Amino acid sequence: MPEKTSLTAPPDNAAASAIQSLLGATIAANGPISVSQFMEIVLSHPQHGYYRRKDPLGMAGDFTTAAEISGLFGEICGLYLAHMFDHAGQPADAAIVELGPGRGTLMADMRHAWSQAMPVLTGLPVHLVETSPALRQRQKQTITNSSPIWHDGVSSLPKTALFGIANEFFDALPVQQAVARSGRWHHRLIDIRSGELVFVDGPPLTGDEQQAWRIVDPHNVVPDGHITEHCPAATSIAAQIATRIAQHGGAFLVIDYGQNGNQGDSLQAVAAHRPVDLFYQPGTADLSHWVDFAALKQATEGAGGRFIGPVTQGHFLMSVGLRERAENAALQCDAEGRRAMFAAVERLVGGHHMGAAFKVGLILPAGRGTPIGFTGDKA
Ligand code: SAH
Repeated sequence: MPEKTSLTAPPDNAAASAIQSLLGATIAANGPISVSQFMEIVLSHPQHGYYRRKDPLGMAGDFTTAAEISGLFGEICGLYLAHMFDHAGQPADAAIVELGPGRGTLMADMRHAWSQAMPVLTGLPVHLVETSPALRQRQKQTITNSSPIWHDGVSSLPKTALFGIANEFFDALPVQQAVARSGRWHHRLIDIRSGELVFVDGPPLTGDEQQAWRIVDPHNVVPDGHITEHCPAATSIAAQIATRIAQHGGAFLVIDYGQNGNQGDSLQAVAAHRPVDLFYQPGTADLSHWVDFAALKQATEGAGGRFIGPVTQGHFLMSVGLRERAENAALQCDAEGRRAMFAAVERLVGGHHMGAAFKVGLILPAGRGTPIGFTGDKA
């Protein structure tokens, strides 16, 4: 990833220019900012933030998610949660939750599957955690026959059994970075030098910070310039969901690109389906990072819950019956429809597409045994 680009490059629109001014003013007032502050401003500034302004999904947007690729994805996830709901004895006071529902497609597809396989689930209250007014509006139109309750964060979610999902949500949360210098970890910060955004080294991580960042052996010599990441928002959110599930029951699917541990420097900017420079016209590209599932697991267990997986998305979807459902659905399609359906399946499960890079984890109450979908594969 290039280390710097001109901050004075002509912005392609007013939003990029506003974000650049905001970053400039913040750095001028307080000094270099952390990578997570940068992400927070770029993605979530109330007026100019990337997610606040527009619908970034779909072919005309910047990226496409599994839910937008095929309705089979939502159907399978919905049937999985229905299975877990049944397994938990169908608790009457349960609530449905989705974090970062995007266009609402996943929830609509899950509800469609429930209307056929387990109608009782369509009657449960739907809680959506979403900060984007534009996407809330979109969700309102997509999720029909229900009056969802929107939340700005997870802390206001009900304290009851939760059956829920977060697909490509955790990757959008602000991540912090540290860089190794002469055997010590330093905060990796962002400054402006000669009018350009650049990475600079900040103060060393304290002992407490090293523990929070899960740096197990701080004395282990890592090569200079090596980068590690920590996403405090992700661990806090996982812990809050896990606390409710540990106390009241439920099941929560976490699906995202990532791995079972720290990825190093995974921060990426994507615009119009292509990688772009992190610092070029900030606010016009989606920023994301690879989710550290081991950190989510630790947070879940710290809250008294159980984290199953991660397994690869390909393994999960195939072992809970994606291919069978696709073959069934293909019977209703013409040749073109069948081709499109199997191309979509390949995108979801193929090792060169989403099947290997994307992982699936499951938050459950304390207990034993490995549920269907999570046996026989280590991500
Ligand atoms: N789950 C959807 C969309 C994923 S895009 C799908 O599978 O298609 C990420 C979603 O998370 C968007 O809805 C975005 O507005 C929301 N989001 C990003 N950061 C957020 C935050 N900090 N709090 C709540 N929602 C957030």
